[in-house]
Amino acid sequence: MDSLWNSYTANISYAISQLCIAIIMGGLYFLAPSERSTRYWAIAGLLSILGSSLTALRVSQFGYLPLIMGSTIMIAAMTAKWWGTQAFFGKAPDRRGWHLVLGFFIAFSLLTLNHESQAYYRTLLFSVLLAILMFLNVYEVLIARKLKLSFANSLVVIAYTLGGTDFIVRGMMALEGQIDLSPQSHDPINVFGLYLIPMWCNLLGSLGLLLMYFESIIKAKEHLATHDELTKLYNRRALVTLGQREVDIAHRYHKAISVFMLDIDHFKQVNDTYGHEAGDIVLRNIAQAISAACRNTDIVGRYGGEEFCIICPNTDLAEASALGERLLEATRALHHAPCDSRQITSSLGLYSWDPHKDLGTGWETMLRRADTALYAAKANGRNRMLKYQSDEDIPDINKINLLT
Ligand code: GH3
Ligand code: MG
Ligand code: MG
Repeated sequence: MDSLWNSYTANISYAISQLCIAIIMGGLYFLAPSERSTRYWAIAGLLSILGSSLTALRVSQFGYLPLIMGSTIMIAAMTAKWWGTQAFFGKAPDRRGWHLVLGFFIAFSLLTLNHESQAYYRTLLFSVLLAILMFLNVYEVLIARKLKLSFANSLVVIAYTLGGTDFIVRGMMALEGQIDLSPQSHDPINVFGLYLIPMWCNLLGSLGLLLMYFESIIKAKEHLATHDELTKLYNRRALVTLGQREVDIAHRYHKAISVFMLDIDHFKQVNDTYGHEAGDIVLRNIAQAISAACRNTDIVGRYGGEEFCIICPNTDLAEASALGERLLEATRALHHAPCDSRQITSSLGLYSWDPHKDLGTGWETMLRRADTALYAAKANGRNRMLKYQSDEDIPDINKINLLT
């Protein structure tokens, strides 16, 4: 060993850490080959191993080619990582990455092969470009739409900001020219700046990317479990959970709450006349129109088939009646292209819970009452809203007030 801070050992550690990253990312890629992000991240790991190994070869023995190729491959590795991060956020990889790699290759080759130029120029070029690519990963995470800072993306931001800063400092040190910053230099500052700090930053950054990936899978799984695939609204299971919670809150704070059941009129005819796909489009249009007509504190879901449920916390009978009219009008006003713009109407059943009366009413009873009112609306000619008014368990149509 030449010194305690041995650049060869550090380089091997760096390569092994990259191998671990490549194995994990590659394994994930083979599990889900349609994922572009893990493919780029695995490629980044493999290129890093190759690049760092090549730069470790002594110029005196092997000439400048391994240094030029190794450095270019390291730049390509960080470009692949950036592309992976872009792919993760659903973007197409920025093709300017190729220009960066090619431009670096030409400039680095010229600086290396021109014996009159100083070695620190190529160190500066390599360090600054690598820093830029690390910062590009940070940039992608920070500008991602709807980003909520989580442990995973904070780790990526911190790790690559530190890594980028390390390479900027290394570039500035190269300009001062007092320390040998070649890949083979055993100077502790070089061993830390070129291998150990980047190794940790890359490891932590890659772990952060991996956690971001798992975070997105968990979110997608949760979304699938609680949302309806066709309309993207809450599904029945989520409606039950959220409805029960809202009713508990209404009871606890003595706040009004209203529940609607909406059913599309003669929907079977739509399917029979225009086909099931046209029916699906109508369902989606209506789901969208209902959501748009509600407040964002209202809970809108597909209860089943062509039935929707709307839970309006903190909404009394008067407010709910006005909303119900808006809902009916919103569905009537739609033009459904695959159904020759034929008007499709809906019926609505409403139950509003008054915190000053009817204290013990639970979620299931509220839902059943809204449903009872809906069936009464159907029986009364459809295309209308009825509200439930009776306190009895099995009310009949006569006990229900017609609002429209
Ligand atoms: P009403 O006015 O009494 O509600 O009559 P309706 O025809 O709307 O009611 P019915 O219960 O007889 O028919 C509901 C139809 O909804 C039958 C079913 O094929 C259709 N349907 C349920 N889910 C879907 C779906 O996801 N896509 C499509 N296209 N149709 C669906
Ligand atoms: Mg129907
Ligand atoms: Mg129905």
